[in-house]
Amino acid sequence: MYQDLKNKVAIVTGASKGIGKAIAERLADEGVKVVVNYHSESSELNEFIEELKSRGDSVVAVQGDVTKEEDVKKLVAAAVDHFGSLDIMVNNAGIENEVPSKDLSLEDWNKVINVNLTGMFLGSREAIRYMSENDIKGSIINLASVHDKIPWPHFVHYAASKGGVKMMTETLALEYAPQRIRVNNISPGAIDTPINAEKLSDPVKKEEVIKLIPMGYIGKPEEVAACAAWLASSESSYVTGISLYVDGGMTKYPGFQAGKG
Ligand code: NAD
Repeated sequence: MYQDLKNKVAIVTGASKGIGKAIAERLADEGVKVVVNYHSESSELNEFIEELKSRGDSVVAVQGDVTKEEDVKKLVAAAVDHFGSLDIMVNNAGIENEVPSKDLSLEDWNKVINVNLTGMFLGSREAIRYMSENDIKGSIINLASVHDKIPWPHFVHYAASKGGVKMMTETLALEYAPQRIRVNNISPGAIDTPINAEKLSDPVKKEEVIKLIPMGYIGKPEEVAACAAWLASSESSYVTGISLYVDGGMTKYPGFQAGKG
């Protein structure tokens, strides 16, 4: 537990499932008041919100599309209206789809760039505006990916968006360090969430993925959420501009693991 997180206020985008849901839950467990952003209503979301409320957590669910400027402004307004502030912004919402690059339409390229890069820019910008106007030494956490570093054929739009997020985060970290607004990335490896449920439900494909992970297993959303809680807390007070790879060693050249090369 991070004592300083109690009564802080956070927004988590795309928090109806997967990593965002785990981060919202972990922050709520830490005593953070959480704006749970969702894109579309679902029974899973309603159950999640009811469960958090039944534990006495302070949460509010707010619909919004992170690619729309007005919706992102609405999220910050909801944090301030419901809970009086904004200390932690977690830009988590993301999408991907597999297409060989030569067949990738401009529409699909724009869709992924809009959610994964522009959405994270809008979330970061609105949080920084509020935090700097109100002298809040906040923490902004962007969900990038190991593919901000590892090239990924058939996912060129995704890899480009995540590489963009990495450099956006580093630039914002440098720009707002004097105000003590920290901006960091979490770059997950393969995590068991709906985004890759189809791939991981195929035992052959799952084994192929596991071969790329030195620690030998697919990560859990809670293992990413634990890192988000640390980056949100003052225990990471001197950390800004990093990419925290939460990947079981995937970015450490697993092909060399058996002493090859
Ligand atoms: P997920 O598909 O389970 O959840 C993504 C969430 O984003 C959903 O709740 C979805 O509704 C929301 N979303 C999509 N478009 C949106 C929009 N326009 N506005 C608001 N919300 C929107 O995926 P996940 O695995 O939980 O991924 C979360 C983040 O972590 C993403 O940015 C993803 O790229 C990144 N990531 C995931 C993995 C992994 O293996 N799961 C690995 C690396 C990075």
